[in-house]
Amino acid sequence: MSFNNLQLIEPVLKALIHEGYTKPTPIQEQAIPPILQHKDLLGCAQTGTGKTAAFAIPIMQLMHQQHQAGPKGHRAIKALILTPTRELAIQIEESFKAYGKYLDLKHLVVFGGVSQVNQVNTLRRGIDILVATPGRLLDLMNQNYISLRDIKFFVLDEADRMLDMGFVHDVKRIIAKLPSKRQTLFFSATMPPEIQQLANALLVNPVKVAVTPVSSTVDIIQQSLYFVDKPEKNSLLKHLLEDVSVKTALVFTRTKHGADKVARELARAGIRAEAIHGNKSQNARQSALSNFKNRHTRVLVATDIAARGIDIDELTHVINYDMPNIPETYVHRIGRTGRAGASGIAISFCDTEERSYLKDIQKLIGKAIPVITTHPFGMIGNSQPVRPPVARPSFQKRTGGNSNGNGNRNGFSERRKTYRSSYAGRG
Ligand code: AMP
Repeated sequence: MSFNNLQLIEPVLKALIHEGYTKPTPIQEQAIPPILQHKDLLGCAQTGTGKTAAFAIPIMQLMHQQHQAGPKGHRAIKALILTPTRELAIQIEESFKAYGKYLDLKHLVVFGGVSQVNQVNTLRRGIDILVATPGRLLDLMNQNYISLRDIKFFVLDEADRMLDMGFVHDVKRIIAKLPSKRQTLFFSATMPPEIQQLANALLVNPVKVAVTPVSSTVDIIQQSLYFVDKPEKNSLLKHLLEDVSVKTALVFTRTKHGADKVARELARAGIRAEAIHGNKSQNARQSALSNFKNRHTRVLVATDIAARGIDIDELTHVINYDMPNIPETYVHRIGRTGRAGASGIAISFCDTEERSYLKDIQKLIGKAIPVITTHPFGMIGNSQPVRPPVARPSFQKRTGGNSNGNGNRNGFSERRKTYRSSYAGRG
């Protein structure tokens, strides 16, 4: 499949060539045609799949065609993209800029934490596309700088994260101001019941598309497993962090409270660590992230939703302090290391209650994760490892192939391999 098969207009194709895109990603292949047919869309996809282009390209194409057909006058906001964080908002507006390089459409991004003066000045001059975070958008609406009455396209991006960050009321207030006749595109990486409910309330006969960006990097990441009793996880973590070869570690916990607790414990032990999750303010998250990126902190403790979209170069270790209960999440987590062909190390702690999660993960990845038994916090009592242990030093770089085979019983990573290789090095 090439972009030429997607009924795209010349200026858009030209911009894609300029960007160096040779073929659409799966979400683009599935989403662009129905959006161009004016259909509502429910997209189950996360950042990194190419979803921004999947909605930005067809929206701009439709707007361009309507713009050409209609009367020329003062511009009114016809497309609204609502996204939970400033980082995402900036990235989305940059995408509109790139894909709309040869189109006469004006766009603006608004988010809080900065002066509104420039945003208001641009709004006064007239724009077609607005990318916004909920708080600042409501502020500007309340001051009558923004009206949503001409909106024809509404995109709700990262809906699950929006709810996780407590924006549900703001989002509902904004939705209430939208015209009922509009095209709505709804994106969420996960679809828990409350997200499904929100989608049902917003969408009319939506086309459903789903992509799971499970990474093939799994095969080049050195994975290991520690069976440990829950109360010992902290001690085991500190013990592992005594190894200086752990230059940067992204530690995953299941809950926000858990993330805070682990970061606190590490800090108490003199290890530079910070937590990042949905309850933290935008500024606190941004600062934790940049501290980690420029190596002021050595350990970043995160929940899955907060860590999404975070791209950290040369991350050496991913540590699953808690086993994820959704097997694909394991693959997403460990895929944070081993980027761009670099070998990474992924360590998982598994307590008795997490055995069933481990079973599902091993089924998905098609192999058993090697177990490290030589550590001071091994399980006591009658909790035996579920698999025969394969002892291997935890931080030794792998030299050869996979000691446990590259089994790929479900064909999952093969599919991803094709997908990733299509735009290797960009994500
Ligand atoms: P997104 O999921 O929208 O955040 O996109 C992830 C990354 O993939 C961004 O850096 C995009 O520039 C890039 N990208 C999106 N679509 C394509 C494509 N068809 N070919 C190559 N790169 C792409």
